[in-house]
Amino acid sequence: MRRRSVLALGLTGCVLGGRTTQAQDFPKESDPREGILKAKTFFAGPAKTEPFGAGLTLLTGPGGSMLILNGQDGPLMIDAGLADRADEIRAAAEKAAGGPIAVLINTHWHGDHTGGNLAFARAGAKILATAACKQRLSEDHQNPLFRMSYPAKPPEARPGLTLSVAEIQHNGEEIRLEAVAPAHTDGDLIVHFRKADVIHVGDLVNNGAYPNIDASCGGWIGGMIAGVDRILQLAGPKTRIVPGHGPVATVDDVRAFRAMLATVNDRIAPMVASSRPIDEILAAKPTADFDAKWSGGLFNGPMFTRIVVAGLVEKHSRT
Ligand SMILES: [Zn+2]
Repeated sequence: MRRRSVLALGLTGCVLGGRTTQAQDFPKESDPREGILKAKTFFAGPAKTEPFGAGLTLLTGPGGSMLILNGQDGPLMIDAGLADRADEIRAAAEKAAGGPIAVLINTHWHGDHTGGNLAFARAGAKILATAACKQRLSEDHQNPLFRMSYPAKPPEARPGLTLSVAEIQHNGEEIRLEAVAPAHTDGDLIVHFRKADVIHVGDLVNNGAYPNIDASCGGWIGGMIAGVDRILQLAGPKTRIVPGHGPVATVDDVRAFRAMLATVNDRIAPMVASSRPIDEILAAKPTADFDAKWSGGLFNGPMFTRIVVAGLVEKHSRT
């Protein structure tokens, strides 16, 4: 049963044997790779900083949304942007912080969040992340759905300290760091600035656009829903939620994102469980009524459907 749906997806190299990924030939309109190519345009803008209140600065641009917390203990930063823009990001961050970043927290291993690690580490930053994030950065990785490979990062660009839950006092803030079970990846970390009432959620939330869910490293839609539920538990009515990409979200925005995920999951999961071929799942148009609102980002409905199916197939293959 599993084998049939896996073969229907064309993911044999990854799922069954762990071999080199095989080229896939999806129609352009449903090929998630087309969405990933768009990311180059999405991430092309310059690094910009804006005061975010309570000692925080929001840094947006090459790689997504990063946060910097200033103070006497040394600047603390969430996520590090793209590697090929690392000098620009570091310069913007240091200008906002008034000096080198002391502590860098990675929300997960993806290159748009850890690409600047080497530059920040060489400037003296200590890097914190989940153990799974460190592990992913320490080994070569293949993503068959996107036909991309990622070489291991050099040791100095990997997190020196790993954690799953921690409460830290830093720069007068009370910061809760909390890992969630596999969701967007297998090593996602939520960072809650309690006093500022701000949560950086990495790529667990995408405000108004279909998200990536990385099946090649444990990501799956059920985990995304559970991760979003944890964010909603931590949040208060006025909490500002900073996703890794896109506009800052309110609690209502996150609830709308959760509702979209839950409905799409309710439609797709039974089809994957009964080994329906991917073409049948796509033909059922399980995202159709959401597409007008949610397909303005990297992925349209059919691409997101493939992403969701890939994650569910991988999940089934592990359990
Ligand atoms: Zn990501």
